[in-house]
Amino acid sequence: MPRTAAVVGGGTMGAGIAHVLLAAGDLVTIAESGAERAAAARELVAASLKKAEDRGKLDRPASELLERLDVVPDIDQLPATTELAIEAVPEDAALKRQVFAAVRAACPDALLASNTSSLSVRQLGDDVIGMHFFNPVPVQALLELVVHDDLDPAHVVRARDWAESLGKTVIEVRDSPGFATSRLGVAVGMEAIRMVEEGVASAEDIDTGMRLGYGWPMGPLRLTDLVGLDVRLSIAEHLTRELGPRFTPPDLLRNKVARGELGRKTGRGFFDWSS
Ligand code: NAD
Repeated sequence: MPRTAAVVGGGTMGAGIAHVLLAAGDLVTIAESGAERAAAARELVAASLKKAEDRGKLDRPASELLERLDVVPDIDQLPATTELAIEAVPEDAALKRQVFAAVRAACPDALLASNTSSLSVRQLGDDVIGMHFFNPVPVQALLELVVHDDLDPAHVVRARDWAESLGKTVIEVRDSPGFATSRLGVAVGMEAIRMVEEGVASAEDIDTGMRLGYGWPMGPLRLTDLVGLDVRLSIAEHLTRELGPRFTPPDLLRNKVARGELGRKTGRGFFDWSS
């Protein structure tokens, strides 16, 4: 019997999560907000599966996997038999709490998981576990499993097993600001920016130092350009509020964001992306 999973929110992350669930043989229902968004979510999953198929990454034809996908315009239409429900709606705690209330009503036996990248999982619900996927979901091997003391240990085991069955490598992290990856990634990113600000070395040389000296696939400044300087600034501000001044964003980062130098998406950040 295939497992039944639900994904709430079929945007960038939700579509990717649906893709990996389908590829693992699960029956998947995506709940979106309205018929138009629901149709767009189906298109996103279809395009993602097609791309994987073209690259020889699927065991079964994309068309066959798509037959196991249902898309509904409202959470109350999710199947009552859903075993795992992962929410991937925008990063807004009130919205996510509302979503979980609706999912509990529609799918009483489902294991509830959030894909939040920064919010406290426990504050979204005592029964909510964090399943933090990385973008693009079909490609990135990592999953941060975010746990807290209110969770039933059996749920933690089920969530870990399910994540591993999707081919993900799981790291288990206590529910704390920035989890493990954002906290450490932002700490290094902020220090690298401070070093550019202080004239210690150029952005290029700092990145080359970390690539060749430490075996990083990409330096912290190029990564900041790819993620978006605005995104990194808002995470650093959040971590400063939660964990203290060691995450204080350097003026250089604030000034670049104010000038609209947001990284690759605007053509300039710490590097020139215009060509
Ligand atoms: P997105 O804006 O691409 O998708 C969100 C989707 O949720 C939209 O399609 C929207 O229509 C839908 N939605 C909104 N309200 C809804 C509701 N009430 N019911 C059903 N659907 C609803 O956002 P995203 O980038 O996929 O991010 C989703 C979550 O994943 C956020 O919590 C984000 O922090 C987290 N996350 C994002 C990334 C990333 O790189 N984008 C990485 C890891 C985690």
